[in-house]
Amino acid sequence: MSFLLPSSETVARREAAFRRQAYPGATAEDWGDWRWQLRHRARTAEAVAKALGKLSSREAAGLANPRAWRMPLGLTPYMLSLLAAEAPDGPLRRAMIPDVREGRVSRGEFRDPLGEVAHQAAPGLIRSYPHKVLLLATSDCACFCRYCTRARTAGRAACGWAKALAWLRKAPEIRDVLVSGGDPLTMGDAQLEHLLKSLREIPHVELLRIGTKIPAVLPQRVTPALARMLRKYRPLWMSLHFTHPDELTPRAAAACGRLLDAGIPLMNQTVLLRGINDDSGTMLRLNEGLLKMGVKPYYLHQGDLAAGTAHLRSTVARGRDILRRMCGRTTGYAVPLFMFDRPGGGGKVPLGPGQAGD
Ligand code: SF4
Repeated sequence: MSFLLPSSETVARREAAFRRQAYPGATAEDWGDWRWQLRHRARTAEAVAKALGKLSSREAAGLANPRAWRMPLGLTPYMLSLLAAEAPDGPLRRAMIPDVREGRVSRGEFRDPLGEVAHQAAPGLIRSYPHKVLLLATSDCACFCRYCTRARTAGRAACGWAKALAWLRKAPEIRDVLVSGGDPLTMGDAQLEHLLKSLREIPHVELLRIGTKIPAVLPQRVTPALARMLRKYRPLWMSLHFTHPDELTPRAAAACGRLLDAGIPLMNQTVLLRGINDDSGTMLRLNEGLLKMGVKPYYLHQGDLAAGTAHLRSTVARGRDILRRMCGRTTGYAVPLFMFDRPGGGGKVPLGPGQAGD
């Protein structure tokens, strides 16, 4: 493997320079504090523009048109530091900064592309398979990705879990619970532990998983205390969500290391995004970098038909071509499964090289 993470010194210098320039009152301790990061999220166009300085005309137009936004704006100072390290219109910036095209709903797109409302077994509990459910623990995220499937609920008030837990207790056929959102790691340790403990107390729930983008957008959240707490609820798996090699920083690697040391296996799910990661070189750097951090690249998702995401959606043919090019150039561990979630909630179908689905 040839991919190297940027050196810790280089990234630390770059990060400190950004902090001093964009958040002059903040100390290094503030920067390392996940609650400070969440409190200082940029939520307005002005805040993003101020932090980033030079913008492309596309970025400026997207930020200037909040009525076209398909979901709220929210970026941690940490993520802004990654965006600031890229040139205007860089790959992470395309994924995280609003675009005026978000306001255009193309033919065949849906506000609820996976039919989650129709598959709701209880408030915040989605059942698309007989044996497993998705528990939407919160609608908040540390950062809002512009391609999100669940833009319709992003940033809205969460509904509480009492009814979802009551339903689960009476559903012995459910063996697998994926706790997602929003991002469950935006919750505090006590709140998250309360949920995990309640789930662990249900005897038929054998497999617990957490879906989170936190190691990519707010790695400071993965404190030693959080890792110790999570360790108690093993077997616990995590689905991470790294999108581009620019997210593979030493802080992200350290966060993954703490989770791995706590005995939590880490898998990654990536969405194939036009102009962001839909080329074999980027995908190779991302997936080899993940392996070096101890994270298994698991799924590459063909972008679903979420309303206002046509400009970010790549093609199945391109995804297959990328995987074909990767095979033979890297270890098989670095090659994810290429998947598509059927519209309306019909489950996932594999699109791997040579299979139907174009
Ligand atoms: S972190 Fe996940 S749930 Fe949150 S905005 Fe990004 S894709 Fe959507």
